[in-house]
Amino acid sequence: MNMNENFDIAYSFDISKDEDKKLKKWQEKHRKKCKRLLTYCFTPTGIGNIIKVRCDCGKELDLTDVSSW
Ligand SMILES: [Zn+2]
Repeated sequence: MNMNENFDIAYSFDISKDEDKKLKKWQEKHRKKCKRLLTYCFTPTGIGNIIKVRCDCGKELDLTDVSSW
């Protein structure tokens, strides 16, 4: 059974429920005024993961949850 089939977006990295919520909210809001391509940046560090979503228009969402580090 594929555990990823319930998700709209297939992440190639682990993302918490809170981060997922934040991401979807931002995406929804941004898509209303901008239909450009989104780029997901995932940078693993020794203490945690830096997760950023960048839109082609220059807008960027920092999803990094420092409190979970
Ligand atoms: Zn945009």
